[in-house]
Amino acid sequence: MRFPHEGTADLLEMLEELRGPLADTLEVAPYREADFFNEIAVMGQYRSDPELVDVLVSQARDAVKWVHSKGVRFNWSVGRHAHKVKGRFRFFGGAGLEVSGAGAGLLERLNKAVASAGISIRYGTQALDLLGTYNNVVTGVRVREDSGRIYEISAGAVVLACGGFEANTEMRARYLGPNWDLAKVRGTKHNTGDGINMALRFGATPYGHWSGCHATPWDANAPATGDRSVGDQFSRHSYPLGIVVNQECRRFMDEGANFHTHTYAKYGREILAQPGIIAYQIFDQKVVGYLRSDYRAKQVSKSVGDTIEELAKGLELNPERLAETVREFNNAVDEVKEFDPNVLDGKATRNLSQVKSNWAQKLDSPPYVGFPVSTGITFTFGGLRINPQAQVLDGSGAVINGLYAAGELVGGLFYHNYPSGSGLSSGAVFGRAAGAGAAEFARAQAAVTMVSK
Ligand SMILES: Cc1cc2nc3c(=O)[nH]c(=O)nc-3n(C[C@H](O)[C@H](O)[C@H](O)COP(=O)(O)OP(=O)(O)OC[C@H]3O[C@@H](n4cnc5c(N)ncnc54)[C@H](O)[C@@H]3O)c2cc1C
Repeated sequence: MRFPHEGTADLLEMLEELRGPLADTLEVAPYREADFFNEIAVMGQYRSDPELVDVLVSQARDAVKWVHSKGVRFNWSVGRHAHKVKGRFRFFGGAGLEVSGAGAGLLERLNKAVASAGISIRYGTQALDLLGTYNNVVTGVRVREDSGRIYEISAGAVVLACGGFEANTEMRARYLGPNWDLAKVRGTKHNTGDGINMALRFGATPYGHWSGCHATPWDANAPATGDRSVGDQFSRHSYPLGIVVNQECRRFMDEGANFHTHTYAKYGREILAQPGIIAYQIFDQKVVGYLRSDYRAKQVSKSVGDTIEELAKGLELNPERLAETVREFNNAVDEVKEFDPNVLDGKATRNLSQVKSNWAQKLDSPPYVGFPVSTGITFTFGGLRINPQAQVLDGSGAVINGLYAAGELVGGLFYHNYPSGSGLSSGAVFGRAAGAGAAEFARAQAAVTMVSK
């Protein structure tokens, strides 16, 4: 989760579980509200809604402390956001922490908090539509159980938090464009845009980057939608340490343009544009120890070769062509600058049509390893327009009473690209605002009903 902080000492103060022997070997630079704000602004090509981004940035730290107070625990994100160099972990990319137990750990802790608050969850129950007076006030939802039973649930207010349209093949093709229907979905098959569509049918206004999404390099043999037993382990985010080629053995992206935290969300789109929607990440033994643990997961698609030609055969690539690409790349590497995976080391290629801007090292230490990757969509950027209180707005900018939204289906925050860890922070910040606002609205409605009775 991404949030502003003042560096190592501040984080240690903020979250007690981070204290321990590891803390002495870490360096996390301060990451302030202005850093977070500017990163979203620059990466979004200045299209993001400044009012919403300001809410996210200014409340993310409190939201993290709040989820912590609900039982969620954090770890130092070593191996993902810092490599051990000369005995120390120096964090890059602004995000220093990850949720303990990843997505499964997060839900386990939150489910406990929900149970202890006496909140019930109806699994296997799909919200179909909003109830109430069109474009005026929402009074509940119509739902369908897996058994086929359809019924209505009346409610003082409704919070939509049911994801974007990343798992809806037809909407992906319609809004993201050609071939997005062929992308793999990293997460749940259930995020099919239902919340967005039911709100639009109720008079809400669409907002944000409807043809944009978060999509990353993802194991080429991963299933069509997320597998909860594997979770995030199909991710292939260590490409800055090697080279990436397409089926024609041609490099097509600057693997070292920035830390993966600032490029991974847009590189899925680059892969989608390649023949066969496939690419190959190639590393040598100098960097294998730095690869994220996902590369050692048991489900990994991988080939190994003592020579580049042998590796090419394993990956079903043309051996001569791949050897030529690697030769050209090796000849272009700056041999003066020192390699350091924890900083933008400026060790770039020279005179190559496709530059690698940082961490360019010769591929010369066999055995070589290659990983086929495809495009994995995480979530879509387009969604509903909300105000800072997470109330859903109609086309005229007026509030739709009793309707709140949070998470992926909020539009206007992210365009083109995204700094890692912002999604959960956004969900927490606007989810908290939505919950508080919905409770207040529902209480006020109940009071009015009592008086009129
Ligand atoms: C593999 C992976 C790794 C990620 N890693 C990170 C990370 O490290 N940091 C980070 O910040 N973000 C990460 N994200 C993104 C993050 O998970 C999302 O931004 C966040 O979960 C969005 O929250 P949400 O509530 O909008 O949607 P979700 O968490 O997807 O929840 C939506 C829920 O709504 C349900 N639903 C959908 N339609 C309906 C309907 N009609 N009726 C009832 N229920 C419905 C779905 O089943 C689902 O349970 C990752 C995502 C994936 C897939």
